[in-house]
Amino acid sequence: MSGFLSEKYQRLTPYTPGEQPRDRKYIKLNTNESPFPPSPFAERFAREAAGDLNLYSDPTAKRLTETIAERYDVDPASVITSNGSDELLNFAFMAFADDAHPAVFPDITYGFYPVFAELNRIPYEEIPLKEDFTIDVNDYLGIRKTIFIANPNAPTGIALPLSDIEAILKSNPENVLVLDEAYVDFGAESAVPLTKTYKNLLVIQTFSKSRSLAGARLGFAIGDPALIADLNLIKYSTNPYNVNRMTQAAGIGALLDEAYFRKNCNAIAKNRAMTVSALEKLGFTVLPSAANFIFARSEKIDGGDLYRILKERGILVRHFTKPRLSPFIRVSIGSRAEMEAFIAAVREIVGE
Ligand code: PMP
Repeated sequence: MSGFLSEKYQRLTPYTPGEQPRDRKYIKLNTNESPFPPSPFAERFAREAAGDLNLYSDPTAKRLTETIAERYDVDPASVITSNGSDELLNFAFMAFADDAHPAVFPDITYGFYPVFAELNRIPYEEIPLKEDFTIDVNDYLGIRKTIFIANPNAPTGIALPLSDIEAILKSNPENVLVLDEAYVDFGAESAVPLTKTYKNLLVIQTFSKSRSLAGARLGFAIGDPALIADLNLIKYSTNPYNVNRMTQAAGIGALLDEAYFRKNCNAIAKNRAMTVSALEKLGFTVLPSAANFIFARSEKIDGGDLYRILKERGILVRHFTKPRLSPFIRVSIGSRAEMEAFIAAVREIVGE
């Protein structure tokens, strides 16, 4: 730390992204990326857009926004795009949480939420998940705070039914519920249709997972036009050109290729089922996942040890050191061949 850093940030603990080691070739099952390349349309559109990189991107991302609106059957005024959904999550903390509207989220969820709260000096409360790692919806009814919920949750993969989400919305009409649907396409039900009824619902999604564009950095939110206008206030006060030309074009290409998107989501669901069943045969407990990752533990080996041995064998998974999480590993669902290699390695390690 230099002597120049603002006092505001001197105690900030930043988010730790999943490791991206370059020392050898790994089977990468640690950052919930897609194992499949982007749609050929996305790639072609991005390449075509590269020739115009001397010009600023469209700050309104008009064509992309309209394409998202059409795909999700909402008004374009209900849509905003961003440089990855992380950016929109930060905007939502900035726009909708403060001393009068503290933030609240589960104690086990996406690790960036407390960082955004700290960054923006927003008071926050973390509500413990139940013993079985599910959210107790009663904890959020009438809580009168700005609520952040990842659905499906991370790193558990467990999804909350829409009826629970609706109950939270109804009981907190004065506060915003930010629903982070980064993983919704792999098996949960999206709350996007509820944005037409509930003015306090903001749904955030990403192109990083189900649409194979993690490296392009593209997220979007859907909500009441008034909420979107609030987010635009923040966007135009920080970085109006937040989505670059190539990414806007790639996003349109990805959305036009619905068949490819569906095929890949189905493949992930199939590989997930195959992996869960193999791990269960090896004695693992696997939480019920609706996401493109699973959270699993074995009585025979600690999560940290399993993570380290897998890494030595060229397979990267994610391990979290929080006490309730440390027995587990989080495994992104890759291609069939990657999952077979992972299962074979685990079988050798646990000695079956
Ligand atoms: N929400 C959750 C729950 C995530 O796990 C991630 C990925 N790390 C994100 C949001 C952010 O994804 P991106 O910024 O790539 O859209």
